[in-house]
Amino acid sequence: MSTVTGGPGPRHAAAAVDLGADAGAVLARVGNTPLVPLEALSRGLGSTVFAKLESENPGGSIKDRTALSMVRAAERSGELQPGGTIVESTSGNTGIGLALIGALTGHPVVVVTGDSISSEKLEALQRYGAKVVFTDWSAPSDSPANARAVAARITREIPGAWRPLQFDNPANPKAHYEGTAPEIWEQTAGRITHFVAGVGTGGTITGNGRYFKEKSAGHVEVIGADPYGSVYSGGHPGQILVDGVGNSWPKPDWPKVFDPGLLDRFLRIPNDEVYTTAHRLLNEEGVSLGPSSGLTVAAALRVARAAPHGSVVVAIAPDTGRNYLSKAFNPEWLADNHIRLATDLAED
Ligand code: PMP
Repeated sequence: MSTVTGGPGPRHAAAAVDLGADAGAVLARVGNTPLVPLEALSRGLGSTVFAKLESENPGGSIKDRTALSMVRAAERSGELQPGGTIVESTSGNTGIGLALIGALTGHPVVVVTGDSISSEKLEALQRYGAKVVFTDWSAPSDSPANARAVAARITREIPGAWRPLQFDNPANPKAHYEGTAPEIWEQTAGRITHFVAGVGTGGTITGNGRYFKEKSAGHVEVIGADPYGSVYSGGHPGQILVDGVGNSWPKPDWPKVFDPGLLDRFLRIPNDEVYTTAHRLLNEEGVSLGPSSGLTVAAALRVARAAPHGSVVVAIAPDTGRNYLSKAFNPEWLADNHIRLATDLAED
């Protein structure tokens, strides 16, 4: 994939596509996702781990909720006018969510992304009619090639364009405080004891964590699952091999929407365990989920192993494994990234 430093000018803005779908019916399918017990993986633990299958959202990820919440809030405040263009820098799922919601609500979408985006996510963006601009994802914040800087420039160039800024936008955690968390509370009849999520923008863990702490008078334990290479859990910054989660920037640069005070603790999970768990979810439970679901479920299994019998541990499963056929589910990609599944290790 080549790096494009020039963005679209006003005359090159993306056009909203007509998906030919009943927009209302598709929009109504965002959220209300299933909560399923992972019976095979929980066997013998004395507690059950449940997965909240965010892969069931129409765009395939939890970010459909965030995208819809941010777009609706901006429409209400008048920041986003009918037909106005949405411009966001994102490594994937938020872009897909915005592209879907934009297509359904009549807003053209421009997504600024980096070379490491999976080919499946790129295809999804293009299928929903988003214009994709590539930039150097590692460019520092003071460089004109920085993704946020490129998105800011494109926004200036397109009249009426609006940036959701998911890292700063309160409508991001609100989607979870008002949607994901009450659903889980109802689905477990208030019996949830532990909540596990990864942290990218922190919207998921902040919105859910706040709701569960309030509802249970602090009794639900809120646990962040973090990959190696992320500093959230106190590790050294390094390469992060789990899409959508972790952060290598120091604390002053953490997302505004993330409230670390809501977390009881972090668990850092090695990549081999993350990817092994994603494969076990497919092979033993029959659910196709991405690596950040492998991360949260691996952490939830560790939690369930140590928790009092009868605990109800809920892990967020943020997206579908179909986005990662060329990465997490491709033996060559795993080998190139020095990831060893438990089955490989057992064969040694
Ligand atoms: N997993 C995946 C695959 C994601 O795309 C994201 C969003 N970046 C997350 C987890 C984390 O969600 P949040 O941004 O709400 O912390």
